[in-house]
Amino acid sequence: RRYKREMNLRKKYHNELVRLKGNIRVFCRVRPVSQAELNEDKNVVTFDPNDDAVLQLSNKGKPLMFELDKVFPPEATQEEVFREVQSLITSCIDGYNVCIFAYGQTGSGKTYSMEGVENNPGINQRALRLLFSEISEKAPDWRFNITVSMAEIYNEILRNLLGDDPSEKLDIKICPDGSGQLYVPGLTEITVQSVEDINKIFGLGHVNRATACTNLNEHSSRSHALLVVTVTGFNTTTGHRTAGKLNLVDLAGSERIAKSGAEGSRLREAQCINKSLSALGDVIHALRAKQPHIPFRNSRLTYLLQDSLSGDSKTLMLVQVSPLDSNTCESVCSLKFAQRVRTVELSAAAGRK
Ligand code: ADP
Repeated sequence: RRYKREMNLRKKYHNELVRLKGNIRVFCRVRPVSQAELNEDKNVVTFDPNDDAVLQLSNKGKPLMFELDKVFPPEATQEEVFREVQSLITSCIDGYNVCIFAYGQTGSGKTYSMEGVENNPGINQRALRLLFSEISEKAPDWRFNITVSMAEIYNEILRNLLGDDPSEKLDIKICPDGSGQLYVPGLTEITVQSVEDINKIFGLGHVNRATACTNLNEHSSRSHALLVVTVTGFNTTTGHRTAGKLNLVDLAGSERIAKSGAEGSRLREAQCINKSLSALGDVIHALRAKQPHIPFRNSRLTYLLQDSLSGDSKTLMLVQVSPLDSNTCESVCSLKFAQRVRTVELSAAAGRK
C-alpha cells in the first residue's frame, strides 16, 4: 500500500512538473543483451509493467529507482521508439525547431537508435521519410524545401561532412543581418528532392567521417555526429511561410576515461567530451527550469544549437543504457544525468511565468 501511495504522490508531483517543464522530454532506452554477454555478466535492470516511466537498477544488490518521461525496455522496436518521437519530428513542418540527442556510454545503443542498422533504420532515416510523406500530403497548397547538412564536433572542432574537404575547420558566426541568429559559413546544405537522395547523402557523410580519421570506431565514440534538416514551407494561396529545423545528434560516448593513464591527446579528448556533455546538461537543465541565463556559450555543441534549443523549440534527450552489471557505474551516471536534466527546481520555475 505504501508503494501505491508513493506512486500516486509521484504521479501528482509529475503532473505538476509537466505543467511547468515545457518542451523538454527525457526518454531512456535500454539495449538488449546477447546470450554470450549473459554467460559472463548479469542483467541488473528491471522494469515496472504498470509504469512505463520508471526503471530499477540493482547496484551491488541495492535497488535504485529512476523516473523519466518514458522508458523503452530492450524489446522495444525501432518502430515503437519512432512512434513516440514522430510528432516531435513533424512539428518542424509547422515551423518549430527540434533537437533529439542520443546520450550514453559507448556501446549503449546511441547509433542503433539514431542511424539504425541495415534493413532496420533508426530515427534519422525514418524522420526524413516521414517528413517527405507529410509534405506530399500538404501539396499543392503548400510547397516545401528540405535541406540536409551533416557535421561532427571532435575536440571542440566543427567539421563539415558533406563538403569536399572534411578536414576543414568551420566557425560559428553571428548573422550580419542583425537578427542575432547563428550560421556556419562553409557548412554544406544539400537540398533533398526525394527519399532516394537520403541514402546517398548519408553514405557521403559516412565516407567523409571515415576519411578524416585513422580509427573510425574510436573516433565516432569520441565525437558528436549531427544531422541537421531544415524544412521551409510556403503556402501558395495565403503566402504564409514557415521555417523549422530538426537537429539529430548522436553524442560522443559519455564514459569517463580513466583519470590516471589518460595523457596528451587522449586527455584532451576526454576533457572536451566531458566539457561538452556537461555543458549540454547545464543548458537543458537551465531551459527546463526556465532560468533567465542559459549558458549556451560553454561548448561548441550548445553554441551551434543555441537557436534550436531556445524559444519555443522542442528537445528530446534519449538516454541509452546497457543493462549489464559490468556497466552499472556508467549506467548510473547516465541515469543521474537524465534526472538532473529532467529535474525542475520548483521554486525557481514557479516564481516565473
Ligand atoms: P553506441 O552508438 O552507443 O556506441 P551502438 O549503437 O553501436 O552503441 O550499439 C552497440 C551494439 O549493440 C551494436 O552492435 C548495436 O547494433 C547493438 N544494439 C544496440 N541497441 C540495440 C537494440 N535496441 N536492438 C538490437 N541491437 C542493439
